[in-house]
Amino acid sequence: VAGAASDAGGAALDIVSVTKRFGAFVAVDDLTLSVPPGTFFALLGPSGCGKTTTLRMVAGLERPSAGTVRLAGQDVTEVPAHRRPVNTVFQSYALFPHLSVLENVAFGLRRRRARHVRALALEALELVELAHLAQRRPAQLSGGQQQRVALARAVVNRPALLLLDEPLGALDLRLRRQMQLELKAIQAEVGITFVHVTHDQEEAMTMADTVAVMNHGRVEQLGTPADLYEHPRTPFVANFLGQSNLVPGTVVETLDAGRTLGVDVGGVRVQVPAARSGAGTGRVLVGVRPEKVRIIGATDVPREADNVLGPGTVVDTSFAGVSTQYQVDVDGLGVLGVFEQNVGGRAVHAPGARVRLAWDAPHTFAFDGDEQIRAG
Ligand code: ATP
Repeated sequence: VAGAASDAGGAALDIVSVTKRFGAFVAVDDLTLSVPPGTFFALLGPSGCGKTTTLRMVAGLERPSAGTVRLAGQDVTEVPAHRRPVNTVFQSYALFPHLSVLENVAFGLRRRRARHVRALALEALELVELAHLAQRRPAQLSGGQQQRVALARAVVNRPALLLLDEPLGALDLRLRRQMQLELKAIQAEVGITFVHVTHDQEEAMTMADTVAVMNHGRVEQLGTPADLYEHPRTPFVANFLGQSNLVPGTVVETLDAGRTLGVDVGGVRVQVPAARSGAGTGRVLVGVRPEKVRIIGATDVPREADNVLGPGTVVDTSFAGVSTQYQVDVDGLGVLGVFEQNVGGRAVHAPGARVRLAWDAPHTFAFDGDEQIRAG
């Protein structure tokens, strides 16, 4: 529709100020998102944060209480589901048991009276590497193979947008990991925009180009997986994407023309890059990922750019082959976690050892306030 195009630079999907209420409950809260074409986009968040509701509004299965959904610039808020150029793959993939794999994939095309139905269906099956099983019934396939048939069925008519709602949720862990890589490869090959809903941070990080972390019906942070991991803007994001140590502190000075914050943590000064921090002044939470932290001896000299906390006592070690997870009770601060690679294949710090914790200051992040983490 001329004139209806958005100014969002040709986004495949725009969600603009969308709210969804169920009675008095706000499931999706004034959400705005834009997904560029060809992106593998993940909506990541804990159970109940509004991911599925958002997806259902994009599919047309749920009507927004307020706001606009646009596909390729066109307002589809009032367009019924079957008229939207969108397919959805659910966790329960519901293949027709009495039809062959090929006929399952061809089904939607036949209904549309498309031409070359058989060739197109076979091509979609080749994409998911199942063409050799085209004549089988779904019951004669493994769970992972059935999921791939569902995917072939969803891409066969080349939708502008493919929505995936926990599509791998029913698979065991090993198969899940394998399918994650396959899905990513398939998306790159077909070039269709994928919007993938999951509560599994590893899944989102493995597959997506862009991840929106949702909490309480809102996007807390949006970015590339590496960006979110390295630069979390809220304690929720820091904890939802991997583990982090968070300790309360107070901003006492700014250094380097404002590029660095000097933060007092239990009487010790640490430095936090201002650019990696959602913090300004006053009370803050200072964070660092466990794998960034090194354990050094109580009298070892740290590196020049290090932040150092301690002394403290190693209270627990848990060996995991290539690495060991240590719990260190830092005097006056509490227990912090450290992941260290095992040099020579064994853990080197025994429980009871008096140690300090050191890490490269640029890996530190900080958030305003000292409230505890709210999740879910
Ligand atoms: P999950 O990962 O568990 O599927 P989610 O992030 O997808 O969670 P939604 O299914 O979008 O969450 O649900 C968001 C909130 O809205 C939940 O608290 C849910 O109970 C509520 N909700 C969803 N659908 C309805 C409905 N039809 N009526 C009332 N409340 C609903």
